Amino acid sequence: MSRQQLRIAVIGAGLSGLACAYRLQQAGYAVTVFEKSRGVGGRMSTRRVSDEPDNEAADYWQCDHGAQYFTARDPEFVRQTNQWLAAGVISVWSPTLHSFGVKPDGQSTQSAGVTRFVGVPGMTAPVRHLASDLSVRLQSRVIAVSKQAQHWMLTIEDDSALAGPFDQMVFALPAQQVNDLLAASAEVPAAFVNAARQSTQQHPLSPCWALMLDYKEKLPVSFDAAFVNAPADAPILRDHTASAQLSWIARDSSKPGRPAGEIWVLHASTAWTHAHLEDEQQQVFHSMLGAFNSLTGVDTERYHPRSWRLHRWRYAQALQTNNTPGFIWHAGSGLGVCGDWLNKGRVEGAWLSGYQLAQALISGYRY
Ligand SMILES: Cc1cc2nc3c(=O)[nH]c(=O)nc-3n(C[C@H](O)[C@H](O)[C@H](O)COP(=O)(O)OP(=O)(O)OC[C@H]3O[C@@H](n4cnc5c(N)ncnc54)[C@H](O)[C@@H]3O)c2cc1C
Repeated sequence: MSRQQLRIAVIGAGLSGLACAYRLQQAGYAVTVFEKSRGVGGRMSTRRVSDEPDNEAADYWQCDHGAQYFTARDPEFVRQTNQWLAAGVISVWSPTLHSFGVKPDGQSTQSAGVTRFVGVPGMTAPVRHLASDLSVRLQSRVIAVSKQAQHWMLTIEDDSALAGPFDQMVFALPAQQVNDLLAASAEVPAAFVNAARQSTQQHPLSPCWALMLDYKEKLPVSFDAAFVNAPADAPILRDHTASAQLSWIARDSSKPGRPAGEIWVLHASTAWTHAHLEDEQQQVFHSMLGAFNSLTGVDTERYHPRSWRLHRWRYAQALQTNNTPGFIWHAGSGLGVCGDWLNKGRVEGAWLSGYQLAQALISGYRY
């Protein structure tokens, strides 16, 4: 079988998986993407909140609760970014920025001169654009992979039929979820399992509570977004100061192409999220809102959100570590792994990891 006729399953329709799938399909491979959720995008995610979720014409508000914006430095990703700009699915966001506190290394978090891109009308838009020509099976959680007559087969939750056969397979999932899937799977060669496990254990993703707030009127806050740095000498887990609780706050409605409204998103700090991961939503809401009010000085008598939503990201952000290459490929078994955590974290790293894995397959790279 020529390389171009190979059947490939990509597990995970976040940016890394779709960048990989898109490039492989372009090169003539037969690609099927499996995604557990109802939509694509993974952590590039936009929540749509409506009293009538099935009625497209009903009133709603929306908020990006995962990735907030992205930057583009690598020439290949700059090329992709230019294509998204031309297609109208991303735009430049130039928020009025503020910083609370300083980073532990004393450096500025505001990075003057940086161009920040956002999806339009929501962060999911560029990922949807990539997916539009791909075969993506939504609501298909892969719970195990196995081998049948030299081919890979997938067990999908609530589906009695195995999916396959596939010649090759890519895991485009957060590190911990790669581990879970491998632990539930049989006949995966030890060389691949060991390589994957070593990387996943080195790069666990940290959790993050995200609170989305819908206000009736504009808040008297002079900035659109702020980095929140914890006090350097604070024993963070016991510290209840606002700046130890939050890491980022942003007026989501200040992004281009958003519906009219006054929408804010708050991200809790990693340390605070770890300490409150299993708390009740009401508790988390009150605590994060209190921190927001205290940082911004908003008059709590006058301004109160008319609606809110919380999202608990169990696997949110990877450390910005550098691996070479930023993916795993085991030619002997036809198995690969991509994801932001293998390539410096963040949106650009996720895209590059998936794209570079696809390029490696196309060029016949052996590890
Ligand atoms: C709160 C938060 C804030 C962030 N802020 C920024 C930012 O401002 N800038 C930036 O550049 N980056 C930011 N990031 C990081 C950025 O979102 C990620 O780097 C990027 O989206 C990761 O893409 P990915 O494809 O590697 O993984 P993911 O987006 O996690 O994709 C994995 C996909 O696999 C699916 N999946 C999981 N298990 C299975 C299974 N068993 N079967 C089938 N499908 C499965 C998931 O549903 C998901 O769609 C942020 C992330 C979070 C959570």
